Order: sequence, then structure tokens, then C-alpha cells
Amino acid sequence: MKLVFYGGAKEVGRSCILLQSESSNLLLDAGVKLGKELELPSIPDDILQKLDGIIITHTHLDHVGLLPIKFSNSKVKIFATKPTRDLLHVLLSDFHRLQNKEKKLFSSRDIDNVMKKIQVLEYNTDTQFKDISFRFLEAGHILGSAMVLIQPEKRVYVEDNVNRGKLLYTGDFNISSSKILNSCERNLSVENLVIEATYSGKEDVFPSQKELINRFSESIKSTLTKNGIVIIPAFAVGRAQEILILLHDLIKAKRIPECNIYIDGMLKKALRIYRQNVIYAKRELQLRILLNEEDPFKSKYFKVSRKKDKSDIQKPCIIVTTSGMITGGPIINYLKMFGGDENNKLIFIGYQAEGTNGRKILDGQKVIEFENEQIEVKLHVEQHRFSGHSDRNGLLSFIKSIKGLKKIFLVHSEQEKAEEFAKALSKKYEVVVPELFLEYKL
Ligand SMILES: [Zn+2]
Ligand SMILES: [Zn+2]
Repeated sequence: MKLVFYGGAKEVGRSCILLQSESSNLLLDAGVKLGKELELPSIPDDILQKLDGIIITHTHLDHVGLLPIKFSNSKVKIFATKPTRDLLHVLLSDFHRLQNKEKKLFSSRDIDNVMKKIQVLEYNTDTQFKDISFRFLEAGHILGSAMVLIQPEKRVYVEDNVNRGKLLYTGDFNISSSKILNSCERNLSVENLVIEATYSGKEDVFPSQKELINRFSESIKSTLTKNGIVIIPAFAVGRAQEILILLHDLIKAKRIPECNIYIDGMLKKALRIYRQNVIYAKRELQLRILLNEEDPFKSKYFKVSRKKDKSDIQKPCIIVTTSGMITGGPIINYLKMFGGDENNKLIFIGYQAEGTNGRKILDGQKVIEFENEQIEVKLHVEQHRFSGHSDRNGLLSFIKSIKGLKKIFLVHSEQEKAEEFAKALSKKYEVVVPELFLEYKL
């Protein structure tokens, strides 16, 4: 088998890896990169023609955004878990809506075509595809997220080395469990690993969940008690649902004052899909719903603003809205309306990529520009990292737990972090920070 990286190498975004064996050409993820400009992986035409399958790890645009742009008319099969499939339509429709009208890269028919190509696979079940077999394992990142365990059929059996040739692609993964999800699968046996290293920097050590929630609830409380508005930009799928369930529970526990939590239509749709797929969530949450306690997915605090000018929003309140990195979407309007008031607060909960408005605000910029308009950002800005990813210690402990591991490819990471992390790992493993377009033999 061999790997070629068409994106996600020395960058966070446009994850797209070609896995080539003697008789198959598979893509692992097909994402785009959101930033100032939309960037696509550059897959050569002859490779696009040859492709016969795409394995999707989860429904985030940096892993699926390319599907409607390049694969609407292709013959490829697309493999995904059920929640990934169900969330995909919502996410791609939103992506379609957010694109500049004059420069739309795909149509809603392209989305429908992509949906028809999806073959749903369950976790922990082997699928034979030409000369390889693969299975999805829980990744703990968002609902439906999967790591992919790949095995060449013609692997060479050596008595004491049954892992030979096996490859694990983590996609995005979390070693800790969350409000909604189990943690990722651990203690695997593979020889080769392609691992996301988003938070692999020395400074990337997350506080404990308890500490994080304490700080978060105290911060929200202080703004609400001053009759302020807390705005939380979040990725439509994943963190938003985690935060919404958390906010509901914090109000119930009287740790923050009772108030309306405004969410966008898109978040509401994704929340409904989470609820429908709760069988893939952690058991604790399933039991809560089954045992007829009140259903946190249908919280009475969740409200959708019905007015275009948002004049029905009542203070104090919380607004959870897209996009997570302030690259477009309803957050822009909310900032125009409420960003100039120092009593309000903007809380980032997720990753802010270089070049995005989110990163600029986080770095202290007080005015941002969107579609030639200047927007004042006078409100308080904080970051509380409710990450769906593992931190540096989590990455290290995951790597250590793998038996028979020899070779590691670090992807989905800023270049400096990946290179430093590679150095730290290189005493024990062969570590590659891959270059775009080069071929790596396994
Ligand atoms: Zn992700
Ligand atoms: Zn990602």
C-alpha cells in the first residue's frame, strides 16, 4: 500500500489522503480548507478518474467539503457511519447557502447526488473492498466520527507480528469522553499510524473537564447577571450540540441563571439528528432519555429567533451560532448588533484557524472586516477550549497505547507544531511530517 497526501499536510484543513493498493484507489476523507479563501486539495485528474471509493471519517467540512464539488458525477462509492450520513446533508446544504452567490462551486442537486452514493457501515464491522479490508472504530470527536482501521488482504503473516502492514487513520479524535460521546477506541495493534496532531504543541495542555466547566459557567454567570448577552460561535456539528446540552444542564443545576438560549435553524436541525441517532451516543445520555427524565435535546430554554432583524431576542441571554471561526453565517449579524457593547461577551470554544476573523479577534483585533464592511468588536472576548480533539498528553498516551507501532504520519496540524512533535516522538518511532503530493510506501 502507499499513501499520497493531497491536503491536511502541514496545515489544518482540506484533509484528503489517497490510499493506493495493487487493485484499489481509495480516498481517506475529502475536505476543504476554510479561511480567507476556500482552498481545495489538488487531486490530479488521472487520480480522480481512477478513484473507486472514499472513506469519510466524520461530517466536518475539512473532511467532507470536497464531496459535492468533485464527486457529484463520479462513480465512487462513499463509505460512512449512519450519523455521518445523516448530518452530511445538513452540513453541505449550509455550506451551499454560505457560498458567495456568484461563485457557487456546486448546486443542491450535487448534494443529492453525493447522498445517493453513500453506503452506511456500522462500527466494528469489517468491509472487504477489492484487496483491502477496513472497519470503523469510535473516534469520540463528534457523533458518528470514526477512525479507520485498514488491513491489506495480502499481508505477510509473521508469527510474532500479526500487525504487519496494518494502518490506522484517526481522522479527528478525542481520547476523553464528553457530555454526548464515548472516548475513542484505544489499545489497538497496528504498524502504521496516520494521526491528527491539531493540538500537539507543547503549550497544548487542556485543563480538566471539571475546571473548564467551572470557569465557563462562572464567566457566563457574570455576563448574564449584568444583563449582558453571551455569544458563542460554534461549528454547526459537534461542539454546538455538546455546548447546548451542557448549558441546559448548567441552568438545571442552577449554576447559571435561567435564560433563553438562542440557536440557529441549522443548529436545531443538527440537534434533531443527534437525537435521532442517540443510539450512537454514550449510554448515560441514552438512559437519561429512555428513563423519561426530561430530554435535554428538547430543552425548553432553546429558542429560535423568528425575526429577521433579531428584535425578538431578549436580554440577558445566550446565543449559540455559526460559523465557529466567524468566516460567515449568522454570527456576523450578531456581532454587528451586539459586538459594540462592552457588557456582552464572545466566548470561543473551538479551534481558530490562521487567517480567520475568529483568530484575529482572539489575537486582540478590535475591528474586523466582512464583505467590505467594518465590524466593531468591543465586547469581552474569551476562549474556553471545549475541544473535540485530544491535547498533547492525550495524543502521546494514545500513541503509546498502540502495540507494534513503527511508523507515524502527523497530519491536520500547523507545520511548526507537527515538526516539533515529530522530534519528540522520533526517539521511539519513525515519524513523517508528510509533504503534499509525495508518495509514501507502507
Ligand atoms: Zn472534525
Ligand atoms: Zn478536522
